Amino acid sequence: MRQRKTNAYKYRIAFGAWINDMRSDPLPLDNWPAPQLDNETISGITRALDVQSAAGFEFLDVWGLFATYAWPPDIVSALDQVRRGKINKLIRAADERGMKLSLGLGTYSWGFDKIIEADPSVRGKNPDGSPHAHAMCDANPKSFEYVRKIIDFSLSQFDFGGVHLESCDLGCCFCPNCAGKDGVVGYNVRINQKTADYIKSKWPDKTVYVITINWVPPLKHLSKEEMDQILALGKHIDCLFDQGHCGYHVPESERKDFIRKLGCAYGTSGGLWLYPDARWDRSSYFLPYVTRTATALKKLYEDGGRGCMYYQGPVVNPGTEINIAAGGRILSDVGRKPEEVLSEVIELYYKPRGSAAHKKLVEIFLRAEEGYFSQWKEELFNKGWGTPVPGEFKLDHHLFGTSPGPATFLVEPCLDTDGRLAYKKSLISILEELPELRGHFADNGRLERIRRSLIITLKMINTIAYVKGESKVLSG
Ligand SMILES: [Zn+2]
Repeated sequence: MRQRKTNAYKYRIAFGAWINDMRSDPLPLDNWPAPQLDNETISGITRALDVQSAAGFEFLDVWGLFATYAWPPDIVSALDQVRRGKINKLIRAADERGMKLSLGLGTYSWGFDKIIEADPSVRGKNPDGSPHAHAMCDANPKSFEYVRKIIDFSLSQFDFGGVHLESCDLGCCFCPNCAGKDGVVGYNVRINQKTADYIKSKWPDKTVYVITINWVPPLKHLSKEEMDQILALGKHIDCLFDQGHCGYHVPESERKDFIRKLGCAYGTSGGLWLYPDARWDRSSYFLPYVTRTATALKKLYEDGGRGCMYYQGPVVNPGTEINIAAGGRILSDVGRKPEEVLSEVIELYYKPRGSAAHKKLVEIFLRAEEGYFSQWKEELFNKGWGTPVPGEFKLDHHLFGTSPGPATFLVEPCLDTDGRLAYKKSLISILEELPELRGHFADNGRLERIRRSLIITLKMINTIAYVKGESKVLSG
């Protein structure tokens, strides 16, 4: 592992999140999360590893290597020889780049659909007592046996560097012995502590971290009692991630104090991120956000945060590539200015032939960021989704689907009529300047992919404006 600088984050985790989120070629008709681990999946992840390792990430946390919703009840038949070989290929690819893969473990929540179908005695319950669709129940000791078998299988046969515990993303059990007794936070603390203790007892060197997704209802914060429960969990794990999809579970005003008391590191997912869409054309959007990443990571670091699960995506998309390349470098040295980091990564990936063109392209990335994100308005999100400005956003807000979905990132509450008009003008101004940059870079087609993204985005904005009858956007 690389030597850490003094103002570097300790846990620099590239968060996949799922195996096909990083692929270069889309899966236009596949519902999320697509389960296949084919050569294109491997190629996309390997390209991403190149960018991640050069940027200083230490782990690639990637889900779906073995299963998505359903491990087989015997666990060991999850893999055939071909898939086993592919997983080992990825582990080797990470290793060759000085990184480790991290195992995504859906502790009682993700991955148990077939198990609870075959063995209904481990099925959890909803708050109204009805059977839970995904979660196992901790009142039956057999549930933990399944978790233990998955851990034993994965960690004894594959060289993972860490384990990401995610116990509540698909919900958890509310029976009188589980969340019905301890509350959602208390129950999740209990099952994560038990799982972390088991991993650490057999593999003390593995980095174990827990994410608190779904522990708190949307827009709510942790109560004092719940914070105390989590503080106790801190002694059993390496890092707690309060990612910040839409606000943080620990209010930012109390964060510094909470981190000081926590017995492990605290992290987020970097303030703002695009969750990629595997059904979409990979060069149909251009959404760099390096300045916003730098600001959020600096603030979190000052509050004592030392972990980041930084979202990945297809590096064939020029905005995503630079977000990852710059994000990892900022995590490795939070004191750096975003313009300076951008300048470095553009030098690396675009190989400018002169300083004027280099400077111009840095300015274009900054302008593209402002062109979109400066149009986000708190009151629009309050009105549309009943939320503050989100941390996570998507191209198509629906996530699920079986064809490339609508461009919801271009409609309310992300952009209103004025926002679309302003974003359109910003994209046009960049599109006008790109031709003069041609021939000034050895960029391997990146500038042309940016150009294509802008053309497609403009077409989508105009289509939305046409349907909505927004003449001022159409003529803008
Ligand atoms: Zn239960």
